[in-house]
Amino acid sequence: MYEKTGNIIKLARENNTSAIAFICMDYVMARTVVYAAEATKTPAIVMLYPEHVTVQRTTGFRNYAAMVKELAEEVSVPVGLHCDHDYTYEAIMHTIDCGFESVMMDGSMNDLDTNIALTKKVVESAHAKGAIVEGEIGHVGVAADADNNREDLFTKPDAAEKFCAEAGVDTLAVSIGNAHGEYKETPHLDIQRLEAIRSATDVPLVLHGGSGIPDDQLLVAFSKGINKFNLGTDYLRHYFNALTEFTKDYADVADPVRVINMPEYVQAKLQPYVEDRLRTLCRF
Ligand SMILES: [Zn+2]
Repeated sequence: MYEKTGNIIKLARENNTSAIAFICMDYVMARTVVYAAEATKTPAIVMLYPEHVTVQRTTGFRNYAAMVKELAEEVSVPVGLHCDHDYTYEAIMHTIDCGFESVMMDGSMNDLDTNIALTKKVVESAHAKGAIVEGEIGHVGVAADADNNREDLFTKPDAAEKFCAEAGVDTLAVSIGNAHGEYKETPHLDIQRLEAIRSATDVPLVLHGGSGIPDDQLLVAFSKGINKFNLGTDYLRHYFNALTEFTKDYADVADPVRVINMPEYVQAKLQPYVEDRLRTLCRF
């Protein structure tokens, strides 16, 4: 069933665990998450990366929100909807107007005061429309550039406290040794820093850049205040591999209409991966 992402995060927090938000670029990826959630009886979040609408054009904002809500109603487990990194007030208000009740305002490339001002404006308008806002402080960089080793990008506990109090965000993405994309070497989360951030603010914390962080580190982080965990690169890699297998398996099929079998084929290949992530990492 469709559930507001805010309520799923609340549930995760009560259980001292994290919900997983999976980047889904299209119907096949979203449907796979919904059915893996049902199979494992684990709440999950389907997450849109806005550039998949504005740049790659794999979907649209309004139809994505409607699609996820419709899929969620096919199952009994709670499924949420969230829109990942966006950078402007106008873009986020449009996303909310298209049906998203959970959004991210990423002002982390600005100085603290600018980030607070930009995020606060989004929060006030979003709350008036019944939506929650994830902010970011410190900066979650790019794994390929080894940004996860750059302590100058890490979230400072005192800045997190100020940011949450003044911007009024509902959740907070932190930089504690994580980064987006493929890590060059095994990352090591700064758990002490996470604990200090946890003590500095009461807001549920979010971990981005989840692909490649060892499970044992994730489970520790989930027990220390991370209540939403974003998974993108790893899931997209599995999608790519499933599509590759499909084209191999169907290479000798003369009838091009057989491409209609692709969604079911790919979902069957993908769903075990998503189920494994939910079973291994979530403790609802
Ligand atoms: Zn991110």
